[in-house]
Order: sequence, then structure tokens, then C-alpha cells
Amino acid sequence: MFQVQVSARALSPFVELVGVERVEAVARAAAVARAAIGPHTVWNVNSTAAGGGVAEIIRSLLRYARGVGVEVRWLVIEGPPEFFAITKRLHNALHDNAGDGSVLGAREAALYERVLAQNFAEIERLLRPGDAIICHDPQTAGLVPHLRRLGERVVWRCHIGHEGPGAEADAGWAFLRKYLEEVPIAVFTRSAYVPSWFPCAHAVTIPPNIDPFSVKNQWMPEPSTRAVLGTAGLVERGGACCSVYVREDGATEEVTRRAEVIRVGGPPAWSTPLVVQISRWDRMKDHAGLLAGFARLIEQGQDLGSELVLAGPAQRGVADDPEGPEVLREVTRAWGELPDGVRRRVHLAELPMADADENAAIVNALQRHAAVVVQKSLREGFGLTVTEAMWKRRPIVASAVGGIQDQIRDGVEGLLVHDPTDPAETASALGRILASPALADTLAGAAHERVRERYLSLTALERWGALVQLLYT
Ligand code: UDP
Repeated sequence: MFQVQVSARALSPFVELVGVERVEAVARAAAVARAAIGPHTVWNVNSTAAGGGVAEIIRSLLRYARGVGVEVRWLVIEGPPEFFAITKRLHNALHDNAGDGSVLGAREAALYERVLAQNFAEIERLLRPGDAIICHDPQTAGLVPHLRRLGERVVWRCHIGHEGPGAEADAGWAFLRKYLEEVPIAVFTRSAYVPSWFPCAHAVTIPPNIDPFSVKNQWMPEPSTRAVLGTAGLVERGGACCSVYVREDGATEEVTRRAEVIRVGGPPAWSTPLVVQISRWDRMKDHAGLLAGFARLIEQGQDLGSELVLAGPAQRGVADDPEGPEVLREVTRAWGELPDGVRRRVHLAELPMADADENAAIVNALQRHAAVVVQKSLREGFGLTVTEAMWKRRPIVASAVGGIQDQIRDGVEGLLVHDPTDPAETASALGRILASPALADTLAGAAHERVRERYLSLTALERWGALVQLLYT
């Protein structure tokens, strides 16, 4: 287990985004929460410090909680690959997906419990009476009974979900239920994700948020965007600017590492319209389906010279996602089987993960430069990449699954693909946006507004404060 450092951030920069009254209201609510928490610490525990939506959400919330004077800390559990194989199976199951189809039985439960007991032994040494602890996702659910025994104030937050019953989802919940029955509060992304056996009165809904001032989302002028992407090998080098960005600690830095890209020729020209999906190498992100949709777009002659970039974390960088390397191999195989004329227009990019800020700067630049951002998921609890692209005023094509249906109203903030298994529907949505800059602009402007109203970390802080206050009443 290790701790992640998060530096405090003031709320004041939000004034230019949402106005002074709104910021002052949140600051007042935060003061009430801080008073309720008193001298105690609010801990967060999850299983990765980088490389996915959950790490992103935790970081973008904790820095502002710290900024308003709440003592918050972040712990990351560790375990052997067999543990993460089980938790990945659980992750897939809660999306009602069979994943690798492995058994979730007594042996798996024993291993899961053993690893969490070891992590708990380390966590216990840090806790003081009266502290609160928020455990995130299936990886940490097994900590809940230990923490309850200790008399801690515990919340379990689940970032995954599936609407309604399903055989796999039921199996996942059957595994987790005994750890969660006594949790006083559980947080879900959408109310549709609360499992039927969980008491509604103990369930709270908080949608995920983004931090508009993080390295991932901070404003990046076009010359820097070009230089960052040129240095990373994602577009042709050009322009006179340096690949600069502002680190989380405020220092100015340059991107220096290159992405590992599987492609036929060189990087696309700066002027080439890019269709971009950024996601973990996970089957539910449906990279193969997007390849098929893009191939169809080219076959139909509606591509307008665009190229497709599928980007995700370099596979050495993400400890809790054991299926990643295998999925990347499958995507590479699918790419290799594309007709020659399509394959040379597709780039599979592993983004460097050695420095989380540098990775975020590259993601930022890629999203800003995209002509269309896609999230072709088959399942999606809530697509943070969608919110990030909406904030950057990009036109979006996304599957009408899970939380994406809350994020985007079809034809208003983006285009939804209702049958994600149909390449023709994806191709048609891409073609409509590429063909109409006016449509692209309208969607992108509405998307930005939607995020401003609903999905910024300021709003999340307000809800988080109310939640933590519940623990101390
Ligand atoms: N992400 C990243 N680097 C990568 C790939 C993804 O920082 O190489 C980030 C992405 O920008 C987003 C998060 O990981 O913030 C993915 O969150 P999302 O909710 O879209 O999917 P999840 O990974 O949680 O299923």
C-alpha cells in the first residue's frame, strides 16, 4: 500500500467559469462540512494512482477538499496479479460482462480477503479514532468489514454499474454483497446502478466530475498542442513552439517522451482531421468495433481524409488492469487484418505513463486536436473521456450506453450510437460530423455548457461535502 500526495487548490479560479455567487455558495457549504469533520482525516482508498477514470476523479476532488481546509488523504492498495485478475473479473461482472469467464468462488474469495487483510493491516496503523474512509470500487469492498469492526465511518463508492439485473452482474454482486451489507453509505454514479438488495436509504448518487484546471483539462494554446503532439510522435512535427504544459505543482514543463505507435507509415499531418478514442485497453471500450466503423466510413467515401487514433496507456504503466496487454494484442491483430487502404489510416498509440502529468498533457493535446472524439464503449459506467472532450468543445460520437446517456442528449451535445455493434451507425455519425462544421460547432458548444452546469469538480465538491457531513451527524 502507498500514499499519493495531492496538493491543495483554491476554489477562486472557478469564479471565471461559474461566477462568484456560485463559488461563494460552495465555499460556505464546505465550511459547514469542515466544521462537522473537525480534526479528523477523510481517507480515500482505491487501487491505482493513474491510468483510469477513478484516479482522475479522486485527484480532481481531493485537491479542492484540501483547498477548503479538509484533511484528506489517498491510499492505494497493492496485491499480486492473481488478486487483480479477480478484481478485474468483478469489474467486468458489475458491467454485466463475463470478462475472462473465470470462477468467482470460495477460493477466489479467500485470496481476495487475504490480500485485503494485508492491506488493512497497513491502513489500520494510519487511522485515528473518528477518521472517515471512502473505499472505491470492487477492489476495496473487502476492506469494509475490517473498517466497520474498527468503528470507522465508512463509505463505499462504486464507479461501475449496469442497469437492471443480469446474470454476470448478479454473480459479481453475490461475491461482493457480504462485504457491503453493513456499509452505512454507498455512492453510485447513477441511481439505476444501485443493486436491488442494497437499501435505497443508504445509497447516494454522485456523477463523476472533471477538474477544468488539471493538466488533463487546462487550456492549451494551439501552438503548444501541436508541439506536444509532434514531440509525442502523434502528428508530424512542425511549428516553432515548445511542447510546454503546466504541471500539477504549477511548474512549466516540456513533454519529452514519445508514444509507442503501431502504424504503417509516419504520423498524420497536422492538417489531417483526426478521429480519436482514448481509453484503457479494455474489451468494453470496443476498439474493434470502432475499427469496423472507421473502415465502413472509408468504404462509403465519407471520411474526408480523416485518420483514426486509438490511444491508451502504455501497458507497463497500469498495475490493476491485467487484461490490457492481451486486449492491445487483439486490437493490433484486428488492425493487421484491415484492408491496406484502411490500415494505413489507423494509428494504435501507447501513451507514455512514466510521468502522470506528461501523460495527461498528451491526452489533453490529443483531445483538443481531435476533429471528432469517440467513445465506442459497449458498457460505460460514466465516460470521463466524454466529459473531458465535451469540456474542450469537441464534437463527440459515443455509444448510448450507461452513464453516457446522461452525459449526452442525442443530437444536442453529441451524437449517440444506439446500436454499438453496428459499424454502419458509427460510420454514419462520424460522417455527419466530418461533413458539417456547423453541426460540429453546435454540438461542441452545447457539450461545453453541459459540463459547466453539471460535471465540474466544484459541483462534486459540494455533493462530497454533504456526503461527508452525513457521516459526522
Ligand atoms: N486516460 C489517461 N491516459 C490514457 C488513457 C486514458 O489519462 O492513456 C484517462 C482518460 O483521460 C480518462 C480516464 O483515463 O480521464 C478514463 O476514464 P473513463 O471514465 O473514460 O473510463 P475508465 O477507464 O474509468 O473505464
